[in-house]
Amino acid sequence: MAKKTKKIAVYPGSFDPPTDGHLNIIERGAKLFDEVVVAIAVNSSKKPLLTIQERLDTLKVLLKKHRNVRLDFFENKLLVHYAREKKATAILRGLRTVQDYEYEFQMALANKQLAPEIETVFMMTDSGLSHLSSSLVKEILSLGGSGKNLVPPLVEKIVHQKFKK
Ligand code: ADP
Repeated sequence: MAKKTKKIAVYPGSFDPPTDGHLNIIERGAKLFDEVVVAIAVNSSKKPLLTIQERLDTLKVLLKKHRNVRLDFFENKLLVHYAREKKATAILRGLRTVQDYEYEFQMALANKQLAPEIETVFMMTDSGLSHLSSSLVKEILSLGGSGKNLVPPLVEKIVHQKFKK
């Protein structure tokens, strides 16, 4: 019998910081694919709140319970080239709003042209999470608001520490 190839998806993002919305997509993606690679995209033109190491350390703790989720980062390369390196056949992305749709549609078509063998798979946000983004979390936490129902307590702690500095 032919050996079954593992279905691997790359879930790329800034994760600055990781939110309940990201974790929801990862959890659901891990049920669909044999393996999900959560890949922090390092964008040198953006000034992030958390360093790559901080994001890796935090996500490592948050993703420990998933046996088929791996964690990584990539920089100075195209997402599709990175996905090929990881032998992924899918790019996993989340969709919240019409604005997300427009941006994601463009990216998905560009990626398809660059790497026709890789499919972009979209997951609709879950109820109660459609308003949730890393920038909203930063805004709320920077002004002393609570991170409840937005981010895990570990993320709330590290982001609060950052804003105190
Ligand atoms: P990027 O800068 O690449 O958009 P983000 O970390 O903001 O990185 O988001 C990574 C992915 O997670 C994107 O596909 C985004 O649409 C998705 N995502 C973020 N928050 C949510 C949410 N609340 N519900 C569903 N998808 C989400």
